[in-house]
Amino acid sequence: MHSRPTKYIFITGGVVSSIGKGLSTACIGSLLGARGLKVTAAKLDPYINVDPGTMSPFQHGEVFVTEDGAETDLDLGHYERFIGTRMTKKNNFTSGQVYETVIAKERRGDYLGGTVQVIPHITDEIKTRIKAAAEGYDICLVEIGGTVGDIESLPFLEAIRQMRAEVGSDNVLYLHVTLVPYIAAANEFKTKPTQHSVKELTGFGIIPNIIICRSEKTLDPQLKQKISLFCNVDKNCVINAVDVSSVYELPLVLHREGLDSRIIEKLNIWSGTPDLKPWEKTLKIIRNPERGFITLAMVGKYVDLTESYKSLSEALNHGGFANECKVNIVYVDSEEIEQNGFESATLKASEGKGIDAILIPGGFGARGSEGKIAATKYARENNIPFFGICLGLQMAVIEFARNVANIKGATSEEFEPEATHRVIHLMDSQKDVTQKGASMRLGSYPCQLTPNSKSAAIYAESTIHERHRHRFEVNNDYREQLKTSGLTVAGTSPDDILVEMIEITDHPWFIGVQFHPEFLSTPMTPHPLFKSFVSAALTYRKQRLSQPDSESTPSSSKGATSKNGSNKEPESIALLVNG
Ligand code: GLN
Repeated sequence: MHSRPTKYIFITGGVVSSIGKGLSTACIGSLLGARGLKVTAAKLDPYINVDPGTMSPFQHGEVFVTEDGAETDLDLGHYERFIGTRMTKKNNFTSGQVYETVIAKERRGDYLGGTVQVIPHITDEIKTRIKAAAEGYDICLVEIGGTVGDIESLPFLEAIRQMRAEVGSDNVLYLHVTLVPYIAAANEFKTKPTQHSVKELTGFGIIPNIIICRSEKTLDPQLKQKISLFCNVDKNCVINAVDVSSVYELPLVLHREGLDSRIIEKLNIWSGTPDLKPWEKTLKIIRNPERGFITLAMVGKYVDLTESYKSLSEALNHGGFANECKVNIVYVDSEEIEQNGFESATLKASEGKGIDAILIPGGFGARGSEGKIAATKYARENNIPFFGICLGLQMAVIEFARNVANIKGATSEEFEPEATHRVIHLMDSQKDVTQKGASMRLGSYPCQLTPNSKSAAIYAESTIHERHRHRFEVNNDYREQLKTSGLTVAGTSPDDILVEMIEITDHPWFIGVQFHPEFLSTPMTPHPLFKSFVSAALTYRKQRLSQPDSESTPSSSKGATSKNGSNKEPESIALLVNG
């Protein structure tokens, strides 16, 4: 029996960067998946870095970690969340990786003295990698990073051009994502940038079959007609991706535009109509969150870089979906906490509104760490739901060591390598590491949950698998002392060497995890920890809003208390009121 050939959809972007190619790719994947097809996706990044693991969050945003430990582009997070297919090392590669492989082959003598060139050697390596990512799937979506016209993406465009002849024109579709800007002064949409971008693409020998036009407002049929005429695509293949308030609306928008129908026609695939009920259900919750909202303080160093916490903010949204509520995130700068204290910094960040939970995400370096520790203390002392992720767990352990277990000057080896009490220290596996790239503890590892812990109840499992990206761990020399002082070790590596989870039992919700649960959460399958955390925040919110001002305010809180218990967002409520 013949297995069906994989069909390839190549996605390029034009006009401007950050146009939403990654999300468009993810949405196409979700629509085709909902038609019963086996879909995967790959992101090809034309930059020279071998992977984004060593890139600054200012330049790159989140580093998404796959199950098999690859540090990848954040678009892979979109793919996993929308398509549901687990990504691997094969699903993201850069020019750096391609050149590294080709140069290693050249050094080994594999090219037998031939001149090694961009075409065919680099393009062949790109094609080999695309095919490896696609193996075993009905459809492989291939997103080319950057914008058509960039010098560095040329070998990638050449490789995908060659793929058409190689795997057959029936098995290849080119899709171009562009921006159709609205010029307010002229009261008009402008199609010229799209025309130019398509012309540029055509110059490389790639004729797009479908164009996705991003626009602020809906494009009328005449505009679509114009784009069709000038860009040489069928009129029904000009798809309008109008701006949406939630990314989870996009699969439905693109479906209404007929995108998935056009794709299966063009690729000559038979499939049933897609089941989009789960997306409709999610959208209903987003539009009308029956249980209102919670406000969460996310305390970090890169607070204005929300792209650095993409998976995390999405996982919080998913936790909200599971509780039929909206999650408002206020980003609190940990250095601001150091200068002005937690309450003042949070009051400023939340514009005077209250907060219902505190979260400390992953991070690196000493800067701002004392502010994060102060936030942890505030959460612990005031019974505010607290979630510490990776560095967040480490902050919680340091705070507990200092202020409960009375270990003076407790800190992390990362911040003070020579400190006496390094309650967080370098993992054994990290001691001989000399180079920076791909050298952390990366990818999925099992974790044994402590029977009868809150964490075990939340997961309803005894062994879990979660993804990691860190160098430091809880120092076992202090484990007993911390336990005796009341810190519960809620999960460890199966050999009991690494502390993976901690919790405080007599606190409504105080959990720290050494891993990144956000990477496993999807809108259809919210992660149990986020679901439970948001639920605890809802409970806390209800309590604090029902408390009379005086007794309920923590002694240190200066804010005025609101008694507004309704689902409506109050104008101004107390910063923090103890529940
Ligand atoms: N900097 C800490 C470590 O390397 C935490 C890393 C993280 O939060 N991802 O262990």
